Amino acid sequence: MKRDKQVKRKIAFPMIAHYNDAVRYFIERGLGQTYIMQPAMTRRTMALGEKLSPDMVCTPFKTILGSMIEALEAGAEVLIMTMGYCRLGYYGELAESILREQGYDFDYVNFAEYTTGHPKDYLKAVKAICPHVRPAKAMKALREALDMVKMIDDIECQYYMNCGFETEPGSFKAALTRFYRDMRTAKTRKDIEAGYENCRQAFEKLPIAKDQNALKVGLIGEYFTVMDAFSNLDLEQALADMGVEVHRWMNVSHRNLDYPGEKNLHVRIKAYCRYEMGPTSTANIWKAKKYAEDGFDGIIHVKSAGCTPEIEIMPVIRNISEDYKIPVLFLTYDTQTATAGLMTRLEAFYDMIAMRKKVIQ
Ligand code: SF4
Repeated sequence: MKRDKQVKRKIAFPMIAHYNDAVRYFIERGLGQTYIMQPAMTRRTMALGEKLSPDMVCTPFKTILGSMIEALEAGAEVLIMTMGYCRLGYYGELAESILREQGYDFDYVNFAEYTTGHPKDYLKAVKAICPHVRPAKAMKALREALDMVKMIDDIECQYYMNCGFETEPGSFKAALTRFYRDMRTAKTRKDIEAGYENCRQAFEKLPIAKDQNALKVGLIGEYFTVMDAFSNLDLEQALADMGVEVHRWMNVSHRNLDYPGEKNLHVRIKAYCRYEMGPTSTANIWKAKKYAEDGFDGIIHVKSAGCTPEIEIMPVIRNISEDYKIPVLFLTYDTQTATAGLMTRLEAFYDMIAMRKKVIQ
């Protein structure tokens, strides 16, 4: 038994945005195991997942599956799968059976099986990952990892609001890249905080040329696709490069860690929607309305092909658009979506909101 304790398991989690660094921190610092970081997602990841997926599943399933395969190729022995409030809740089971059919050998911890609302069941999931977990140590590392998530979200928020106005080309990106590197190598809370502080201060010092007429666009949409730059073809950067101040409320901090709750948000959108329509619907409708009330120049709604919850809120978003006279661009991503097509639509949207701003000013 003693010897077992010393054998570190090689654990991986599907790639999503830049949150894998926080998962890595928890696995290594809290559970004392080895984290396998698969390569950043590429077209190969998508192709691997697409080849083995049923046609009608939504695109995040395909990227998650491809990313799991790349984790197994990188040496992972244990795969962790997230839970979800839509069919994502069933995807864990489906992904496991596809991978086993392909002959992959691995242990599997599917969080959907442990999501009962009882904290003791989450502990069971953690024990499935690491049977000899020391709860106090794991809790401490979890709190630090969640703080890292909040810092990643805050830094990305600041980055996309300002990088489109930098006067020294590449200066914001350089600071952001340093920050990601610091999160990737952080071993203590001090390292995390130092990395965050360095980046925050660097952003503050960097010169920008932004006036009060800068175009402001708010992004809303499906959880995975709107947050993950690979999945949305780097939409935020493309907008920022056009000189737009980009806002995105949807992130793990806002939607999961500090979420104000369905009931509270429902009160704010009751003129538009009476019932809950999906995992991110209430928040997206509320945020679309808020962007409109705050005088944003446009809203972009992002979703994966086949995402039923986000398809259902489109008429509501259109109503908000009509009531507040705010332009909305709807973007749907599937495995064939290419940058050229996206840029054509973005440039047309940009020209339209820029002209509109000149006319109404
Ligand atoms: S929210 Fe939509 S795209 Fe995301 S997993 Fe659920 S159905 Fe699929």
